[in-house]
This record gives sequence, structure tokens and C-alpha cells, in this order.
Amino acid sequence: MDGQLVSQATKDELKIRIAQWVKEGKKAPHLAAILVGHNGASETYVGSKVRTCEEIGYVSTLIRLEDTISEERLLQTIRDLNNDDAVDGILVQLPLPKSISEQKVIDTIDASKDVDGFHSLNMGRMVQGLPGFVPATPHGIMLLLEYYKIDTRGMNAVVIGRSNIVGRPMSILLSGATNPGNCTVTICHSHTRNIKAICREADLIVAALGKPLFLTEDMVKEGAIVIDVGISRVPDASKKRGYAIRGDVDFENVAPKCSYITPVPGGVGPMTIAALMRNTFRAAEAKQSRKA
Ligand code: NAP
Repeated sequence: MDGQLVSQATKDELKIRIAQWVKEGKKAPHLAAILVGHNGASETYVGSKVRTCEEIGYVSTLIRLEDTISEERLLQTIRDLNNDDAVDGILVQLPLPKSISEQKVIDTIDASKDVDGFHSLNMGRMVQGLPGFVPATPHGIMLLLEYYKIDTRGMNAVVIGRSNIVGRPMSILLSGATNPGNCTVTICHSHTRNIKAICREADLIVAALGKPLFLTEDMVKEGAIVIDVGISRVPDASKKRGYAIRGDVDFENVAPKCSYITPVPGGVGPMTIAALMRNTFRAAEAKQSRKA
């Protein structure tokens, strides 16, 4: 599955809708991103989110804060953005310094501007199958399955990882009464016994644990669908930057057994950004209709 291609198609569609939206005299969606500190990976992710906003025709604001910032100052910055009518979507790039409570930060974002979908209210709505913002990475994976018209009904799905931003919401979406969805889902974590045997029974595996090349050929049955969420930097002297990006799947040996598989890079990563852009447009639309 080509995440780059599907992401581009999603962005192209949004670009057309935004052009029309602006032509109708409405304000272009505005995404405000907060980056705390100087984590290399976070800088890269925020940079591509901001660039994508420009590409599609959104307004973006990047607020950079030092990692010495107090929790209260960060919360105040978020409250200011909540109260700023010009801002439609707010994201705080994770991880945050250890002295700051991520949950408190997330739950301070106005749920109607929480385009990352991490706010407890949006999480709760997703669990209940109600409309709200769905976390961008699992949302992007659902868009990818939809694009390739993969009928997941009745499949045995295994999600490896139970984080609030990927694994847990992924398991909820795949088990939902939707298509894609309607799977029988097993969620695995670091205490799971017999993970190899569980994976071998799976029609669909989502690997989201952050352990490079964890999912090997002997863990995958013939014809399975494998989605690799992992992004790890591993030292590689042959690369100019000194590291290579690896997923959680041993792509080279697993791919020949699969009916569909996502590569890293070029799979889930671009879809995450596309899904975030969709959420931001939805936030702007919802605000517009509240005003009308
Ligand atoms: P996380 O918060 O560290 O969660 C990792 C999960 O994997 C935990 O639930 C952990 O179990 C489980 N786990 C760890 N080792 C395991 C093992 N040996 N066997 C089974 N389960 C194991 O990570 P995350 O934020 O979900 O991210 C996961 C990966 O996806 C990372 O590489 C991250 O960089 C990447 N990511 C990619 C995107 C994208 O757009 N492509 C977006 C977000 C994240 P416990 O709960 O028991 O500790």
C-alpha cells in the first residue's frame, strides 16, 4: 500500500475543497502547532505538518517553546489559542519534557480544536462510535484500507502496541461496526504471551510497538495484510545523517507473504499527516456551521 500516493490523493482533494471554500468567502483553516524543545524527530514531524498546510492552502502558526517552559506557561499558551477565533486546530507535538503532564496538556486543548484527537472527550466519543476527532495515525490507516477497498469484515486483526495515540484507538476502530472495521481484534503488548502464535493467526496485523524489524516472516501467515506504524532511527554510518529509518516489520522477508503491506518510509507516516489535514478541515467546517 502506497501511503505517499494515497496521502497525495487526499491532499489534492482537500486542496480543491479549500480553494472552493475560500472562493465562497470563508477563511482558510488555521492550524496552530506547538513544539516544545529541540527533539530532532519532533522537529521533522512538525516541519512536515507546517509544509503540508502551506501546500494545501491552510494557514499555519508554529509556536516554539524552550524545554525549560513551565507546565502553567504551556497551558496558558493553549488557553490563548483556544480563545483565538482565528485558530481552528491546535496540536502539541509529543513527547513533552518529563516535568509536564501530557494528559493535562491534551485535555486543556478545546476539544473542538483537538485535531490530533487525543483529548479524553474525543477518545470517549470514538470508543462510543460517535462523531469527533479520531487520532491521526489510526485514522490515516483506516483511510488507506478504504482507498484500497480492503473488505476487513470478519478478519482476525492483531494490533501490537496499546498506546493512546496508536495501538488502542486502532483496536477500537478495527473492531467498530464500520467498513473498514468489523474485525475481531486482539491487542498485544509487552506482557503478551505467545505473540508469534497470535500473529500467525492474523489476517491483518498492525505493528505499532517501536521495535525495529520486530515482526518477522515466521510470524505472518500467507496472504496476510501487514501495516507497519513503527518509525525508529537506527545508527547507519553509510547515511549522511548517520542513521536510517526502520519500521517494526522486516519488510524484505515479510512482504513476499503478504497480500498488502505498507513500507517504511512511505506508508503510514504520510497518511498520518493527510488525516491530520482532514481533521483540521473538519474543525474549520464545524466552526463555520456553529457560526451560521
Ligand atoms: P509507545 O507509546 O512506546 O507504545 C509502544 C507499545 O508497544 C506499548 O503498548 C508497549 O507495551 C508495546 N510493546 C513494546 N515492546 C513490545 C514487545 N516486545 N511486544 C509487544 N508489545 C510491545 O509507542 P507509540 O507512540 O504507540 O509508537 C509506536 C511506534 O510507532 C513508534 O516507533 C513510533 O515512532 C511510531 N509512530 C509512527 C507514527 C506514524 O505516523 N507513522 C505515528 C505515531 C507513532 P506496554 O504497554 O506493555 O509497554
